[in-house]
Amino acid sequence: MLAHMLQTHSILVEPPQPQSAVLPYPQYPVFQEEDRSMVVVMRTEATEAHIEGVLERLHEHALKGHLVRGEERTIIGVVGAMIPPTLREEMEHFPGVAHTIRITQPYKLAAREFRPHDTVVDVRGIPVGGGACVVIAGPCTVESEAQIVQTAHAVREAGATMLRGGAFKPRTSPYAFRGLGEEGLRLLALARSETGLPVVTEVMTPTDVDLVARYADVLQIGARNMQNYQLLEEVGRTGVPVLLKRGMSATIDEWLLSAEYIIAQGNPNVILCERGIRTFETATRNTMDINAIAVVKKRSHLPIIADPSHGTGKWYLVPSVALAAIAAGADGLIIEAHPDPDRAVSDGGQSLTLENFAALMPKIAAVAAAIERSIAVPLELEVA
Ligand code: PEP
Ligand code: MN
Repeated sequence: MLAHMLQTHSILVEPPQPQSAVLPYPQYPVFQEEDRSMVVVMRTEATEAHIEGVLERLHEHALKGHLVRGEERTIIGVVGAMIPPTLREEMEHFPGVAHTIRITQPYKLAAREFRPHDTVVDVRGIPVGGGACVVIAGPCTVESEAQIVQTAHAVREAGATMLRGGAFKPRTSPYAFRGLGEEGLRLLALARSETGLPVVTEVMTPTDVDLVARYADVLQIGARNMQNYQLLEEVGRTGVPVLLKRGMSATIDEWLLSAEYIIAQGNPNVILCERGIRTFETATRNTMDINAIAVVKKRSHLPIIADPSHGTGKWYLVPSVALAAIAAGADGLIIEAHPDPDRAVSDGGQSLTLENFAALMPKIAAVAAAIERSIAVPLELEVA
């Protein structure tokens, strides 16, 4: 009897309809992936009025044009959420336009398709991304005047191009030392005035950007902040060169999209930094993704340097991986070096002694020379 009732009941209940069968046809326009990104290439003889015309038309579509003025022609990156499917054809017939290019990657301003030539970032007259490789060296954390000034003199003597040192430190544990703050920035500026080495230092929050930019020549965005979009936009508004470290679990595309945030705010001076990613491997602190150097070179025009200190986590592995990164085409290195690594307040185990750093420099120069590159020299030293 019960079986009979259940059977009757089940006949009365309608089987659920698949969701898709009852959804109305979408009211919003459907864009193809390839319609999302576009570059407008102007004719060599295009006038300012032609360029203005393109920008105005983009504006009518609620899009922005990002100009790159080359020696021969201007190209305009189209920036906006959605590009109407008809825009490509519209632009191709516009006065002064040579042709348009579809950008297949999700980022545009950072894409090699947008800017075929390598970007060279100028740091106090030192080109980053040209033929010469830069070597940035210094302690993980600025600890004292004696420590940072001694390090600056020693790494400069050994041939380093810039000085690194953290004044605001991201620490995994909230109980670890988190840096000297503005006092650390002041000490970095002092070391710069004594040695002529430009200073690279991390900024961790949007509210500190103005302060850090008053002292730093390069603003470092740490791995843990690669997707802190407010911070990226804030450093994007400064125009100061930015060293954008790769997040420890970020894909290369996510990393380039973070670079896009900075460039979209009007700051094209982005230097990427591969610093190792998290993998299943436990023999090293991170796994240095050498592949990423070659991939970035193909996909983007931005300079990329490598950080073998965080990439390996062990001082005795740093030299091999540093040389591998240069051989793979990195535009430079950032290496932790400390007068007394055993007593360093952070990352002592991955910091080179000043002697070991000095011993590594000629090897870096030799590998660079083997691939027809050199090591950049700070301008002050060139004159001396
Ligand atoms: C650093 O450079 O000392 C640092 C904290 O690096 P990362 O953000 O790559 O961990
Ligand atoms: Mn460190």
